[in-house]
Parts: sequence; structure tokens; C-alpha cells
Amino acid sequence: MSQISAATTSAQPLPTIPQSCDVLVIGSGAGGLAAAVSAAARGLHVVVAEKAELFGGTSAWSGGWLWVPHNPAVRAEGFEEPAEAPRTYLRAVLGNRYDEAMIGAYLEAGPRMAEFFSAETEVKFLPGSKVPDFHGHLPGAATGGRSMVAAPYDGRKLGPLLTRMRAPIPETTFMGLGIASGVDLYHFLHATRHWRSFFHVTGRVARHMADLALHGRAMRLVNGNALIARLLRSAADRGVALHERLACVRLLTEAGRVTGAELDGPEGRVTITARRAVVLAAGGFPQDGLRQQSQFPHRQTPHSSAAPRENNGDGLRLGEQAGGQVRTDLSDAGAWAPVSLVPRPDGTLGRFPHLIDRAKPGLIAVTGAGTRFTNEAAPYHDFMRGLFAATPPGQPVQAWLLCDSTFIHRYGLGAVKPFPVPKRAHLRSGYLKRGRTLAELARVCGIDEAALATTLAAYNGAAQRGEDPEFGRGTTLFQRVNGDAATQPNPCVAPLMRAPFYAVRVVPGSLGTFAGLETDAKARMLDAQHQPIPGLFAVGNDMSSIMGGAYPSGGITLGPAMTFGWIAAQTIATETGI
Ligand SMILES: Cc1cc2nc3c(=O)[nH]c(=O)nc-3n(C[C@H](O)[C@H](O)[C@H](O)COP(=O)(O)OP(=O)(O)OC[C@H]3O[C@@H](n4cnc5c(N)ncnc54)[C@H](O)[C@@H]3O)c2cc1C
Repeated sequence: MSQISAATTSAQPLPTIPQSCDVLVIGSGAGGLAAAVSAAARGLHVVVAEKAELFGGTSAWSGGWLWVPHNPAVRAEGFEEPAEAPRTYLRAVLGNRYDEAMIGAYLEAGPRMAEFFSAETEVKFLPGSKVPDFHGHLPGAATGGRSMVAAPYDGRKLGPLLTRMRAPIPETTFMGLGIASGVDLYHFLHATRHWRSFFHVTGRVARHMADLALHGRAMRLVNGNALIARLLRSAADRGVALHERLACVRLLTEAGRVTGAELDGPEGRVTITARRAVVLAAGGFPQDGLRQQSQFPHRQTPHSSAAPRENNGDGLRLGEQAGGQVRTDLSDAGAWAPVSLVPRPDGTLGRFPHLIDRAKPGLIAVTGAGTRFTNEAAPYHDFMRGLFAATPPGQPVQAWLLCDSTFIHRYGLGAVKPFPVPKRAHLRSGYLKRGRTLAELARVCGIDEAALATTLAAYNGAAQRGEDPEFGRGTTLFQRVNGDAATQPNPCVAPLMRAPFYAVRVVPGSLGTFAGLETDAKARMLDAQHQPIPGLFAVGNDMSSIMGGAYPSGGITLGPAMTFGWIAAQTIATETGI
């Protein structure tokens, strides 16, 4: 029996931490677990050390989408495209930050990584045949067929490991029920409009209630939760030793080679010798206030990342101590996303990332000056870039997402769910603002009243015709897919007409960081002379994003995280003669 299938819940004795292994992986997100499973599949003895109480990191909270052109899931659907097309697109988006060595390695290994996991592990993917690239107007952009998502997973298959895994962000679920992007989400948003959707939702909710009654939690895992569950199952099946509450604090080196690490665990400090390699996969620095000061553009406003608090830059510091370099030349150091802060009953603040609600028809975003500043249906990264540009120096970086009653009834707004879920708690907590008139809403939010009236008059006038002359909402397929096809002629545009009106404040946040440790195309960490540091690898967001700070499509962090995790494992095995 593997160490993991014998593993226990936190109430039971802790599994013994091995003193040595072939490969020590720091962090249990998609990057770390992909490296661990792939290395174990090559016959290596692998230990995963996870600082948090639960496995999975940001990956467990994610949408679970991977952008991997030519992946086997879409090819099985008959989708084929010229080998060069993704390169053309990336060249157009990345400009002079396009790095052929890194991109070439990624595009070549991505499908092989996906084939390995699909054929030899519990990780299975569904095709993203209709998921368009973010910048549909650029050469080489695809209207679909470059992504794949983790298939939903039955939590029962994880056994005791299920209680050791991070659950989804509560605000993105419905009473703990994870809603899968795509068809599932469509039905949830149309439950009061179509009978088919109504039956889909009542079926899902009934099964969820039964799971809550029997198991006290959701058992049908979707999105990033399904991805991590599948990776954990695969790691357990391959005999990977998984240890939570074990934080790496120092790397050990001998004659210039990384040979292991010191880690803090529940029973004090331990040393693990890694005979072949240490893989840093600690998820970047989205919660590292100090590095944010030097790398983020909005120093005047605290950054509210949607990533877990444990991702506070340990991997980058460990890498630097071993001679590695953190890149500072990316166009953007983070994967920006507007986030709203949701007061929770326990006094803490949840962070809701606004990834798709902004594209629905009948919403605008304004600053405190009462003016729109960007295309609200744009990808989250671009939306935030628009807000950074629109915020005068020294002013807080914030905006309001404003909608009318029709909108909130149909789609909800951020953490507020659509009808018939009550809004009362969010109004009481102050998360959701309401005004009987737009003027009243402006006063409640502290928005310039006269300017807002002018903005709305201009927007509504054109919106009656489905147009947005100012910012061109609905002009790319990505925007329209996230809109509402029932609204024509433009799925992203409708006037705000019906009182009362509502608003939610958004602040700068992120899904993770892009700037990370410099590596080569084999995921080997490089020193100041750009030479590999023997025995040290970086993957996931600890490795600097191969996209150079750009955000070409959904899935451009998990795709490379798993691919370079797989590449790291192949490199370690091959370099050490396996
Ligand atoms: C809501 C949301 C949706 C998203 N959707 C997508 C999507 O669909 N597709 C996509 O590509 N990206 C998505 N992202 C971004 C993506 O989730 C992250 O970029 C990705 O998960 C990072 O993976 P990782 O393996 O590098 O880090 P993580 O998954 O964050 O894992 C890092 C782990 O390292 C641990 N750790 C930190 N320090 C130490 C230490 N000293 N010792 C041991 N362990 C340590 C952390 O606790 C954490 O568990 C989303 C993000 C969010 C928040």
C-alpha cells in the first residue's frame, strides 16, 4: 500500500516524514503535483512537502483550464490546426517578449504531457472546443480547440485524502456545490428561464444535498478541485509521499549542487536529502507584500490576490538564496483580476475574482469619477490594466461594477447569486450597494453623481441598439461567449433601465503571479550567469511565466505549470540516467 492510501486525517497520527528521497517537491499545486506524478512514473521516489494544512494551493481554487494547443482531448473531437497557428498568435500577443526556446519547448511538450496524464494516470481532461483565445482580433487567434479542462471527479475515489485537500473558494460555490464552467454554469444562470436548465439545477442541488447529508461536503468535484483531486489520486497510486504542514525554509547545497532542504513541520525542523533534485513549486508571490512593492504597479492600494495566503513568495526567496534570479522584465508581474471583498460571517474577507460576470449585458464599470474606463467584457487582466491606466497617481485603485435589477436577477453580481437566491445578507454586510435611483446609488458609493448620469445617458443611448461606440463591448468572440446569447444583437450590451440599481466595489487583485525565477526550457533554474544550478528546478508560478507578462488565453498558467512539471521530471530522470 502506498504511503498515501495509508494516510490519515489530521486527527490521526502523522505519517513519518522520509529522511531522503530522489526528488523533493516544494508545494502541492498543479505544478508540483504534475512534477511529482511524472517523476514517480519514471521510477523515482518522490516527496511532496506542502506548507498549508491542505493540499492543492491556488490550483484547487482555479477553473482547472489548461491552454495546451494540439492537446489530445480536442484532437479526439476532430479538431486540427496548422502546427504554426499557436506560434503566430503568441508572437502577436507577446511581441518582443516572445521567447522561441521556451515557447517551442512548451508547444512541443504540452500535448505529450497531456497524453501521459490521460493514458497513465487518473487525470482526465475534457476538450475546450468552443473556448476562444482572449484576443480574437490578432493573427493566429483560435475560436476554440486549444484548451482542455479537468473532468469532474468523484470525491469518494480519494478516500481519506479528500479531507486533506483544499475545498473551492466558498463564494464561488452554491452552498459548497462547485459549478463547472461551460454547460453546468449555463444551466445555473438559466434555471429560471428554461425548463431544461431548471431540471439540471434541481438534479444537481438534490444530489448535493444528499452528499451534504451523507458526507458533510460536496463529493462531485469540478474545475481546479477536480484537477487537484485527480493529481492527488495519481500521486497516491504511484507511491508519492505527500506531507502537508511541512514548509520548506532552507535549501541545502553541497559543492554548488542542491542536495535537499530543511523544512518546518508539526514536530519541528526536519532535513530531507534529495538525491537527484529539488523542485520549487510554491506558487509565486501573490501574497508577498514586500515583493509586490517592487514589482506591482499599484503600490498605493493594497493588493487583494485571490490566491491563498500561503503563497507568499517562499519559492522565490529559496531560489534566490541558491543563486537563482527573479525576472523583473515582464510586461506585468501578475495575472491581474478585479476582486471584490466579501465580508464573511466569521469576520474575515473573502475575495471574489470577477472573471466572467462583467461581460454579461446590462453592467458597466466606473471609477469614483463616474466615468467608464475600459471594455468591461475584456479579459480580467486587460480590465485591470485599463483601471491602472485610468487611476490618477496617488488615488486608490478601485472601480464599481454597476447594474440594474434585470441584470442582478438574471446573473447575480460577484458573490451575489441570481434569483431566487436572496440578496439580503450581502446588502446587510455592505458588500452589495443599492439605490432606488442611479443618483442615490452614486451617493451611497461615493461616485460623482453628475458624471455618472452623463456616462449612463451616453451608454444607454447606444446600448438600446446593442452598440458600445466608446469601448466596443462584444467585438470579439471571447467577449460574446461570456455574454448572454439570448441578448441580441450584442450579447454583451444592454441598457441599465430597471430600478433599483446595484453596485459592487472591485479592487486590484490577481489569480497568481507571472514574474518568477529564471529557468531554461528544461525547467532547470539558472544562476546569474544563466547557467543551470545543479539539482534545482522551478515550475508553476515559481518559474517565470513563458508568456512574458501577457495573458493570451485562459489556461496559460496551469498549462505551462503541468507541462514544465512534466518536463522537469523527464529532465531529472534522463540527467540521472533513468
Ligand atoms: C479563482 C481562480 C481561477 C483560476 N483559474 C485558472 C484556470 O482555469 N486556468 C489557469 O491556467 N489558471 C487559473 N488560475 C491561476 C492558477 O490557479 C495558478 O496560476 C496556478 O494554480 C499556480 O499553480 P502552482 O502550482 O504554481 O501554485 P499553487 O497551486 O498555488 O501551489 C503552490 C503551493 O505551494 C505551497 N507552498 C508555499 N510555500 C511553501 C513552502 N515554503 N513549503 C512548502 N509548500 C509551500 C502553497 O501552500 C501552495 O499549496 C486561477 C486562479 C484563481 C484564483
